[in-house]
Amino acid sequence: MLISVIVPCYNEQQVLPLFYPAICQVADQWSKQDIQMEFVFVDDGSSDDTLLTLRQLAQQDSRVHYISFSRNFGKEAAILAGLKQAKGEYVATMDADLQDPPELLPQMLELIQQKQVDCVATRRTTRKGEPPIRSFFARLFYKIINRLGDAQIVDGARDYRLMSRRMVDAVLSLPEYNRFSKGIFGWVGFRTHWLEYTNVERAAGETKWSFWKLFVYSLEGIVGFSTAPLALASLMGLLFCVLAFCMILFIIVRTLLFGDPTSGWPSLVCIIFLCSGVQLFCMGVLGQYLAKTYLEVKKRPIYIVQETDEESR
Ligand code: UDP
Ligand code: MG
Repeated sequence: MLISVIVPCYNEQQVLPLFYPAICQVADQWSKQDIQMEFVFVDDGSSDDTLLTLRQLAQQDSRVHYISFSRNFGKEAAILAGLKQAKGEYVATMDADLQDPPELLPQMLELIQQKQVDCVATRRTTRKGEPPIRSFFARLFYKIINRLGDAQIVDGARDYRLMSRRMVDAVLSLPEYNRFSKGIFGWVGFRTHWLEYTNVERAAGETKWSFWKLFVYSLEGIVGFSTAPLALASLMGLLFCVLAFCMILFIIVRTLLFGDPTSGWPSLVCIIFLCSGVQLFCMGVLGQYLAKTYLEVKKRPIYIVQETDEESR
C-alpha cells in the first residue's frame, strides 16, 4: 500500500530540516508493516532556499518528490498541485511547520480503516497562542458561513487530513479557479471522522497569514460557497421600498392634516446618504460575484510549474 503526503511550503527553509526527520520516523514505522510512503513537497514560489533544500532531499531520498511554482500562487494552488501528483491509495495533506503533528498519521490511518470512512480530518480544540481578536473573527466566520453556505465547515478544522483515493478524485473533479479547500472538502461530502487535538505552535519560521490576508480569504470562502449575500441585497431593496411607501403615506396624511411648512432638509440629506450607502453596498456584493465569475471565465491555469524532481533526475 502507498500513502502520499502533500506538504505545501512557502519560505519554509527553517522548518524543513525539522519536518523531514519527523515524517521519516512515521515512514520507518510503517515500512515495517509493508506500507510505503511518498512525500510530495510543493514549493509555492518561495524566495528563500526552500527549493534548494527540496532538491537536496529529492536527491538523497527517492520517496521525496517536489513541484516548484514559478511564483507564489497560494496554499490552495499548492494543495491542488500535490493532489494531482499524488499516487497513493490514501493521501494526506499537512503543513510543513509541524503544527500538524506527523505522529498522528498512524492513528489516522487506523481510524480511516476501522471506521470505514473516506476521510479522517483534524480539528484543534483550543486556539491558544493566537491573538484574541483573530480567534473572535475566526469564530464569527464559521458561524456566518455555516448559516449561509451549503457546505458544512467545522470550526477549528485544519487542513491536516487523510483521504481515500475516491475522495481525492472527487476533490480533483471540481475544476474551479477560486479554490477554498475547506469548503471544497465539505462540499464533496463523504463520511468524515474528526480527530481532535490541542493546538501546537509553529516549530520555526513565521506564519504567512496576516490578519488582512485571513479576512480576504474568509470573504472568498463566503462568496465561493454561498449566494446568500445576493439574496440579502434583494431583501434589503424590498425592505427599503416598503419603508419608503410607509413614509409617503405618512407625509401625505401629515400634509392634509397640518398643511405643508417647508422644513426637513436635514432628514432628506440623511435619507439620501442612507439609501445611496445601501445601494453602493449591494452593488459591491454584486461586484464580488461578478469578479469571481470573471476570474472563472478567463480559465487561467491555477498554478504554473517551473520545475519538478522528475525533470532534474
Ligand atoms: N503556505 C503556502 N503558500 C502560501 C502561504 C502558506 O504554501 O502562500 C503553506 C506554508 O508553507 C505552510 C502552510 O501553508 O506549510 C500553513 O502556513 P502557515 O503555517 O504560515 O499558516 P498558519 O499555520 O499560521 O495558519
Ligand atoms: Mg502554521
